[in-house]
Amino acid sequence: MDKWQPLATALDERQRSARYRQRKIIQSPCGAEMQVDGAPCLSFCSNDYLGLANHPDVVNAFTLGAGRYGVGAGAAHLVNGHSHAHHALEEELAAFTGRQRALLFSTGYMANLGVISALCGRTDRLYQDRLNHASLLDAGQLAHARLQRYRHLDDQGLAAKCAKQPPKMIATDGVFSMDGDIAPLPELANIAHQHDAWLMVDDAHGFGVLGKQGGGTLEHFGLTAQQVPILMGTLGKGFGTFGAFVAGDELLIETLIQQARSYIYTTAMPAAIAEASRASLRLIQAESWRREKLQQLIQHFKQGASQLGLNLMPSETPIQPLLIGDSASAHAISQQLLQRGIHVTAIRPPTVPEGSARLRITLTTNHTETQVNQLLDNLGALL
Ligand code: PMP
Repeated sequence: MDKWQPLATALDERQRSARYRQRKIIQSPCGAEMQVDGAPCLSFCSNDYLGLANHPDVVNAFTLGAGRYGVGAGAAHLVNGHSHAHHALEEELAAFTGRQRALLFSTGYMANLGVISALCGRTDRLYQDRLNHASLLDAGQLAHARLQRYRHLDDQGLAAKCAKQPPKMIATDGVFSMDGDIAPLPELANIAHQHDAWLMVDDAHGFGVLGKQGGGTLEHFGLTAQQVPILMGTLGKGFGTFGAFVAGDELLIETLIQQARSYIYTTAMPAAIAEASRASLRLIQAESWRREKLQQLIQHFKQGASQLGLNLMPSETPIQPLLIGDSASAHAISQQLLQRGIHVTAIRPPTVPEGSARLRITLTTNHTETQVNQLLDNLGALL
């Protein structure tokens, strides 16, 4: 048989089951109003929750950074790619998170692979929420750890599992990327403490966004670095830039520098990105109105959606998924919305469980109430 034939068959099957994914071409900066496939639209699907991806201070810091350091870092951090900009950002993130150290990774995906494969081995039990981000789950596989997934948000189920077989590590998303709900971190921290296990939180969608100061899901619950010793945050979402970091004690960070393969064997992020992220961090700290406005928009959207009787999933965060069910309908509604000038992506299996295709609506500080009303009007008309 032609060795390519199975690939063609698999692609056909994807088409038939309405799971085929296609990219749209963006011709504008990320924002509330965007140019998508040549047409203007209102966008409700970015993770730029605080509206910083195209903020003049951030763009300016990036430009100055490129002027000073050039574009490419030229090497891995451990060779000669670790600039003053990277180092300063790490120190600022450590201070902001109230931890001894922080370590930059080129992406959040790589941070998760690096941490888990450096800390867990074949004989170690690793328990994860079953809806954790793919990168945490993949990390467990890469580490060949004894990975078990517990039911979504089910701290009691996890406690029972731990009582039978205590794990070395528990890992969870802070805010779940496709559901928008928040992990029961105080309970998870207690369980981890009881069994002397590490708790790792991937706060990609909470960091900068939740908590009065932007400290994320940990600040939302008032948790300390002792309770959550391994914190991963990304810079490509609330920060509006790119990359990620892990924050924790000296011992953790030095171990990652020596052992995390996705840290060691890759080119450092451009220094200009680090400079842009430093500017974002300053804005995150100085402009709490961004989080307040976002919360107001979330409440406004939820109220409007409930008046329309829309099937919103339970979420208090900027991720407000609208459950549709089957993939073909979710895809069709997303396309109809785009024809009406509203861009919301349909998220389908295998990204989400079977039968739970959804419109993943995200709100950002850059939206206005009028724009949210436009979204609601169009959802009301179509659904
Ligand atoms: N963790 C979570 C929860 C995420 O949603 C994402 C991004 N989708 C990542 C990690 C990966 O981060 P990055 O995009 O920086 O690789």
